[in-house]
Amino acid sequence: MTKAATIIPITLPTPFDVGPVNCCLLIGDAVTLIDSGPKTDEAREVLLSFLKENRLSLKDLDQYICTHYHPDHAGLSKEIQQAGVDTLMLKEAVPYVSGDSDFLKWADSFYIDLYRSFGVPDSLGRLELLKLKKYREFISPFMPDLTPLPGEGVPGHEGFIFLKTPGHAPDHLSLYNEVQGVFIGGDVLLPHISSNALLEPPPLHEKERPKTLLQYRETLQNLLTLNLETVYPGHGEPFKNAHELIRKRLHDQNERAKAIEKLLSDEPLTVFELCIRLFPKLYEKQLGLVVSEVSGHLDLLQEEGRIIKVEEEGLFYFRQTGAVR
Ligand SMILES: [Zn+2]
Repeated sequence: MTKAATIIPITLPTPFDVGPVNCCLLIGDAVTLIDSGPKTDEAREVLLSFLKENRLSLKDLDQYICTHYHPDHAGLSKEIQQAGVDTLMLKEAVPYVSGDSDFLKWADSFYIDLYRSFGVPDSLGRLELLKLKKYREFISPFMPDLTPLPGEGVPGHEGFIFLKTPGHAPDHLSLYNEVQGVFIGGDVLLPHISSNALLEPPPLHEKERPKTLLQYRETLQNLLTLNLETVYPGHGEPFKNAHELIRKRLHDQNERAKAIEKLLSDEPLTVFELCIRLFPKLYEKQLGLVVSEVSGHLDLLQEEGRIIKVEEEGLFYFRQTGAVR
């Protein structure tokens, strides 16, 4: 007989600005761990003692599902896999988690070129790349054992299916149970902060970078059609009223787009110039996030035909459609 699923959340410390991360045990016919925390002694210790409190060790897990490649969620994946636990992620995660050196080099040169075209000073761009390298140290490379397809049932958990929910990360996977209205959503929807649709390189040897904010908005629109009774987020407390929050996120994005459009009414600006104007206190410290935020909303304005991009000596300038320079 199928047991009703039990979800036991656990919060692990991270060394990142986002604060602690939530993982959880999903207990049904199978015992499944979802997400693992960063590769730090502190996170490992809390995770292992949490399992112990539930009379489990890593070896007792039937499977481990990781929502996305970010080290605060995927950092300890390899150690869990080495304990003999099947590790599941979407196939889009493979270039990110496998430590593929060609892809990492590709990603680094993508960011260098993109930041230049955005008008980011080289010194700041280099600093951001160093931060990215440091960030990658909080995960050991591994290769997922299984790459489930969106829409497939979660093994051992009747009623739960895998959903592909890209935008915050290109490989983002969520778990959904329509009957119970349960959504285990990683970083797709966070109660206290908006999820950043981070800039990502295109897949190896492809030209066009993904428009991550547009992907994210499509994900949010799709979520509005689901029965989201309770959301278990990757950061913050589980929450209800998810549809209201989704509508707020979409509304806030529209407002930010309007603010950017307004700034472009006087003169064409680069991404970096917009970053300084919109986030004067934050842009140096959180450049990666700020650049993603601005360029994502520029993608949105371009998609809607409200602004255009012009290139001048290797720099991209954005201006309102119809405005004359
Ligand atoms: Zn994340």
